Amino acid sequence: MTLALAVLLALAVGWCWGHRTARVRIIPVGALATEDEAALLAADRARFEEIAAQLRTDTQRDPSAGSSCGAPHHLYPETLCTEPAGHYVRDRHPHGGPLIISGRECGGAAWDEPQDAA
Ligand SMILES: [Zn+2]
Repeated sequence: MTLALAVLLALAVGWCWGHRTARVRIIPVGALATEDEAALLAADRARFEEIAAQLRTDTQRDPSAGSSCGAPHHLYPETLCTEPAGHYVRDRHPHGGPLIISGRECGGAAWDEPQDAA
């Protein structure tokens, strides 16, 4: 019995020592999960504010001026771009306007044209 316990103790010590000195060790560096979440949330909020500001200037613009882009969203064709004509630059100046689904305004949308249409 004593021999079995001694062998078990030796194995446990060997296990711990082996894992302590292993070449591959996981060392947590960088941000904590909560910090990551906060950073992602801040980025999302900044993007939201940007789009909201864009939409606010859209509503202040006179829609009867006839100079708006008017490009329809590829999934929601009732949603029309209210940016000025010729504004669209892929990945830089997306189309934007009030999101309209089934005749109801459901917030705002900013979108790029589908790749195959470009
Ligand atoms: Zn547009």
